[in-house]
Amino acid sequence: MTTVGADRDWVAAAALGRATRAVVDLDVVAGNVRAIGRRLARGARLMAVVKGDGYGHGAVAVARSALAAGASALGVATVGEGAALRSAGIGAPILLLSAIDPAEAGAAVAHRLDLTVGTLELLAAIAEAARAGGLAEPPGVHVKVDSGMRRYGAERELAVVLAARVAADACLRLTGLSTHFANADEADEAVTQDQARCFERVVADLAAVGIEPELLHAANSAATLRSERYHYRLVRVGIALYGLAPSAAVVLPAELRPALTVTSRLTRVIGLEPGDGVGYGMTYRAARRERVAVVPIGYADGYRRGLSDRGWMGFRGGRAPLRGRVSMDQAVIGLDDGVAAAVGDEVVVIGDGRDGGPTVAELAEELGTISYEVVVGISGRVPRLYRSGGEVMGGVTGLR
Ligand SMILES: *Cc1c(COP(=O)(O)O)cnc(C)c1O
Repeated sequence: MTTVGADRDWVAAAALGRATRAVVDLDVVAGNVRAIGRRLARGARLMAVVKGDGYGHGAVAVARSALAAGASALGVATVGEGAALRSAGIGAPILLLSAIDPAEAGAAVAHRLDLTVGTLELLAAIAEAARAGGLAEPPGVHVKVDSGMRRYGAERELAVVLAARVAADACLRLTGLSTHFANADEADEAVTQDQARCFERVVADLAAVGIEPELLHAANSAATLRSERYHYRLVRVGIALYGLAPSAAVVLPAELRPALTVTSRLTRVIGLEPGDGVGYGMTYRAARRERVAVVPIGYADGYRRGLSDRGWMGFRGGRAPLRGRVSMDQAVIGLDDGVAAAVGDEVVVIGDGRDGGPTVAELAEELGTISYEVVVGISGRVPRLYRSGGEVMGGVTGLR
């Protein structure tokens, strides 16, 4: 996020003052957007999904980079997320990917957010807000088809009814028809193919009554990378923009690189005697004389307690295992004999696969979760610094 003048300097200084920081390389984000763009079917556009504060990377900075690199729209989950992008001066189309509470329809249309609709109740609330709003343009509505996910889409007949109502309402614009895949990140493609056929039946039903929504879209990152068959007129790409694979079953193209790393610095190096315990519960006990070091990151930073006694950090090109429990603000790593270590030395908490630190996927595996949850979970206390054109600048501080 660019800030100007004194404000920017202050933000940069505050962010740089903490040893623990996330660095997001915006040139990498832009490169990922272009690489995905080159793989799209003819005529398909790219929506950059920046919900969850840009998967923990910072939504505004990522959105700007993605739009500059060729994305045509943004996707968010909540009205607040969309409003924050508008406040930052972003004018591109922004789609609310999830159903919202009907009570939020007024705020959504006031911020010129496009809406996803799967029920008559929500459509009625949007139509009312559109009529009351004194808007320059009718809000864009995307009708969501439930092709198997059983969350907020509409089944075939209802989807046709909703699309027809939107198309017939001068206060609304039928911008899209969409669906969402449940299993696109799994090795077996059968369910995804079934869902695509289900979606296409609704497209055909609508065509039969003369309705052709401008944008047909279905693919998340996994489906986008899997086959052009799922690209239609728009793909909604999240995790791959950040250079992360949706799952172990999806191979990322080699040109995609992880955009985020988290590093910190040792605040203390401690010698242990045999029998000494480390941290709460003393779950780690030294079997011999050895050294450990304190790293100022803990579960309040989103460095999960589940990593206690099992995670590792990158230190001097090797793996330094966690010793004892991760606490709210600190973690302790073990140091190999003979490895030099001093206060201030850098440790790689989350690496990019080339710097010796654990990758997001490795941390996810260790925690029994998915990469999405690891990056989204990096808390607001960790300053985000942005690298662009080789320069690191202050970004969203930990006080987001
Ligand atoms: C989050 C989301 C996406 C992006 O999914 P990725 O797997 O991160 O690419 C696409 N579509 C919808 C409806 C979403 O909610």
